[in-house]
Amino acid sequence: MRKINEECGVFGVYREEEAPLLTYFGLHALQHRGQEGAGIACADGREITCRKGCGLLTEVFHTENLAELRGHSCIGHVRYATAGGNELENVQPLVARSYLGSVAVVHNGQIVNAAALRRELEEKGSIFRGTSDSEIILHLIQGGTGTLLEKIEAACRRLEGAFSFLILTEKNLYAIRDKNGIRPLSIGKTAGGSWCVSSETCAFSIVNARFVRDVEPGEIVKFSASGAESFFYAKDCAHRLCAMEYIYFSRPDSTLEGLSVHAARKETGRRLARLEESADFADIVVGVPDSSLSAAMGYSEELGLPYEMGLIKNKYTGRTFIQPTQKLRDTGVRMKLSANQPVVEGKRVVLVDDSIVRGTTSRRIVTLLREAGASEVHVRIASPEMKFPCFYGVDTSTRAELASANHSAAELCGLLGADSLRFLPESELCAACGGDGLCRACFTGEYVTPLFGGAERPRDWEPQQ
Ligand code: SF4
Repeated sequence: MRKINEECGVFGVYREEEAPLLTYFGLHALQHRGQEGAGIACADGREITCRKGCGLLTEVFHTENLAELRGHSCIGHVRYATAGGNELENVQPLVARSYLGSVAVVHNGQIVNAAALRRELEEKGSIFRGTSDSEIILHLIQGGTGTLLEKIEAACRRLEGAFSFLILTEKNLYAIRDKNGIRPLSIGKTAGGSWCVSSETCAFSIVNARFVRDVEPGEIVKFSASGAESFFYAKDCAHRLCAMEYIYFSRPDSTLEGLSVHAARKETGRRLARLEESADFADIVVGVPDSSLSAAMGYSEELGLPYEMGLIKNKYTGRTFIQPTQKLRDTGVRMKLSANQPVVEGKRVVLVDDSIVRGTTSRRIVTLLREAGASEVHVRIASPEMKFPCFYGVDTSTRAELASANHSAAELCGLLGADSLRFLPESELCAACGGDGLCRACFTGEYVTPLFGGAERPRDWEPQQ
């Protein structure tokens, strides 16, 4: 039922006795970032072994195949396909073997100049195994010159878009973040003193590690027997973390660039509440589980309205209803959410949600509340109107599918069947989420990188009016 999906999550461990198991646990904490495939590659100093498959982490891994992973350093991946299909050859880690040694890679994000680079590489003789844009970095590295670090630096300079990469060789681990830092990547240290790297800090506590610092935009951190060394592949770096990481993607117990996701979401709710003239229009506040609960708490506290459990999430519906088809999205809401009738019956409800993408989920939830007897439903969205597609690893690739790109707020209110609808202004979002050093392109149309050259032009792209 996730209304918007991100490409994936990555986790790595360098030189730890139980590295495969720790990577499995780390990926388990990142499962919300991708449910279509999972994999782990492991290095023992001489070779890299890899196991991967389609499905949830618990479907792909079991005691036997985890035991087959030999070594002390690992990288792992949970995947949602926004570029390339969800066939096994696109499931990561991707491993390349040559006479120089083996290299494994995992990637979170999306390369926007992938088509042009792929064509260039194919013209030079590269043969791609899958359709994923992540494979491009392997070919760029293989075709490079100098040390491996120099090859990685040169490869990163060719890439445009969003990427947090982990690269594993037989002996070393590299953590890389694109020069705008669009996707998060953080470094931790286990109780045993080993390094680990994760898309989100929530994965550190599960492996008994503490957060050390974020990988900086444009930075390559090399973990080797000499320790952790920092290099920068670009000079024109900026902090443009994806705003949707705060709003929706990341777990509330993660910290992004020093700011707690829960605290940021709660603040968006508070700021949303300050837009109201008074609290007289409603009786209770209900958040949409799970990503909107923090914002609903902030809204309720600020306005002095009771926060109630008006929607119950069924946690056991499985991944069938995460499949990206409209029909399944329509039916999936009822399987996943129920209205708590004794709580909402006869009440004027403020429904706080984090965002509206296609509008399907929000419309269904409003209907659920009305069927349970809510006398009024006022929808409050803790982010601005999403009017533009994302090209940085999120599955909103056309304007046609975005409700706010095609309807005014008043029209959308009617389509949702709500009594009123209000969005959080962009300035308030920035104020709640640590300032304006954020990518907010899906709200503003101002993309943080050049988007495409010729072949990459999205099929319904229109420049901002
Ligand atoms: S366009 Fe939106 S979803 Fe995509 S990276 Fe930027 S803020 Fe995130």
